[in-house]
Amino acid sequence: MATLHLEKERCKSCEFCVTECPKEALSTCEDLNSGGYHYVEVEEEKCNCCGLCYVVCPDGVFEIRAQ
Ligand code: SF4
Ligand code: SF4
Repeated sequence: MATLHLEKERCKSCEFCVTECPKEALSTCEDLNSGGYHYVEVEEEKCNCCGLCYVVCPDGVFEIRAQ
């Protein structure tokens, strides 16, 4: 089974992934990362690891790992 991992410090809050996720599993959170951006969080129970967020993110935030 695959799992989605996020490197929140890389996120620049562009929301490309939030818009594209077919499961509406992504959202920006209230907290800021060290760069001052509202980073993205995933609702793991909604995510099916389709990989679209990995494709659209310009900043390499996502990684899909096999388990
Ligand atoms: S892997 Fe697919 S379902 Fe999961 S957060 Fe990314 S775009 Fe959404
Ligand atoms: S596409 Fe990448 S940089 Fe943009 S909000 Fe999503 S995770 Fe952050």
